Amino acid sequence: MANDLQIAARRVASVNPATGEILREFECSSDDEVLAAVARARAAQPGWRDLGVGRRIAILRNFQRRLHEKKSEIAEAITREAGKPRTEALVTEVLVVLDAARFLIENAHRLLADKPIPHGSPATKLKSGSLLREPYGIIGIISPWNYPFSIPATETLAALVAGNAVVLKPSEFTSLVALELRSLLRAAGVPEDVFQVIVGDGAAGAALLRSRIDKLVFTGSVPTGKRIATAAAERLLPVVLELGGKDPMLVLDDANIDVASSAAVWGAFVNAGQACLSVERCYVHRSLYENFLTACTEKTKKLRVGSGMDLETDVGPLIHKRQLRIVATHVEEAKSCGARILAGGVPLPELGANFYAPTVLADVTHEIRIMREETFGPVLPVMAFDRDEEAVRLANDSEYGLAASIWTRDPKRGERLARQIQAGTIMVNDVISCFGISEAPHGGFKASGIGRTHGRFGLEEMVRLKYLDVDRMPGMKKVWWYSYGERFARQMEGFVDFQFARKWGERVSGALRAAGSVGRTKL
Ligand code: NAD
Repeated sequence: MANDLQIAARRVASVNPATGEILREFECSSDDEVLAAVARARAAQPGWRDLGVGRRIAILRNFQRRLHEKKSEIAEAITREAGKPRTEALVTEVLVVLDAARFLIENAHRLLADKPIPHGSPATKLKSGSLLREPYGIIGIISPWNYPFSIPATETLAALVAGNAVVLKPSEFTSLVALELRSLLRAAGVPEDVFQVIVGDGAAGAALLRSRIDKLVFTGSVPTGKRIATAAAERLLPVVLELGGKDPMLVLDDANIDVASSAAVWGAFVNAGQACLSVERCYVHRSLYENFLTACTEKTKKLRVGSGMDLETDVGPLIHKRQLRIVATHVEEAKSCGARILAGGVPLPELGANFYAPTVLADVTHEIRIMREETFGPVLPVMAFDRDEEAVRLANDSEYGLAASIWTRDPKRGERLARQIQAGTIMVNDVISCFGISEAPHGGFKASGIGRTHGRFGLEEMVRLKYLDVDRMPGMKKVWWYSYGERFARQMEGFVDFQFARKWGERVSGALRAAGSVGRTKL
């Protein structure tokens, strides 16, 4: 029996979270299949690297053109499998990828080119230094379900344009969208073995981690991220970790309540709150608190919850029941600790098993889970503060540090506070849209991650830096070679004084002592 269980292939199902319909079932890739995929990628990568950046950019342009042509089809596939409203799928996923491709098409050539490294020390003036950026080889990517297209696609495009092969293990909940990405890349001209998708659960991800990849880019939860980091440390595998968040929103006493409340409602409920950058905690100056809560409550009650396929829908379902249970537990606990529920606070079974009403909570405290752990659902918990320093302290009182937002009519004041907040991105008077700014690096402080994706720094993660030093005097032995002796010691002391003594006279005397070393006999 035990053997039968081991032999039986594991299966994962792709399910429409709005209806419960099974869209397709897959057998999980076995360890052997993962190893074989990585071996094929290894064989194919040198050819891809040798194409050169220009040819790879041409393929990227082709990908961008095809994605644009199929934008509605892809957005629908995302909505079907992940639940979000179709317009959100178009704007926060397809558009983000089109623009990431634009960034790489415009900049990859320049950013990946060799760069001279001028030398400052007189001892090394006769050498020319340069910095080369070489692809790692194979980049493994493990991605989550909440942005099933934009996350793996933006990471993949950067890896590919830099000359790597990619093996992607998408979330077991969104395999179909990953296969759409594969079709687009193939049709654009990326060779079959240069971009591969291995479908499966966490065990398939763990098999990818054990395989002979050269770097791993992981996006997902903090607990999985910690497991990945531990396993990667064992073999010194470089990793980028894009993990969870508990992003605070700070509404200062001079904020525009109408604008800030609209931002809070969108920031907390976009993708049904299942965004790593969503507003998970909101701190409002006491002078605006009740008016802000009234505005948020009124706006929340106007939101239309339903199937993302309906273009009139604002908020779709959660991904699965497990996620709904986490949200319901956080809300119930807050309620039992004295929080006021101003809107929502209940599941909506009449719409389907995974729907939860957009919820506004007032009078929460920092002791309860809804202000400490990632809720990842349509909940906006709001708390009052009296002084800016208190708001900063509350914002920083978290193990997470992905992003934060500050709302004020005085951008300079916002900037000042932004510098005190411990997070990878701070937005003044906006939320979440930083993810769609292709030039902006994305990544967290503290438990929210290590490394960056997107923009120049995301591209840098896909290459190894190689320093190349070429000596322009091949016929000359170096001054600092053997053999040593008392005279040489004096000459070298002179050389150090020549560069670093405080007085000019000492420098000149140092230079005279050092000069003798040039002609000395070396071994
Ligand atoms: P998750 O950690 O459960 O899973 C992420 C991926 O890891 C999936 O593909 C899963 O199959 C795989 N996996 C699970 N166990 C594994 C193991 N032991 N070894 C290797 N792979 C394994 O996360 P999720 O529920 O899919 O995604 C939601 C989380 O992702 C949230 O915490 C969210 O904040 C975070 N997230 C972060 C960012 C960011 O950019 N910082 C973006 C999106 C989502």
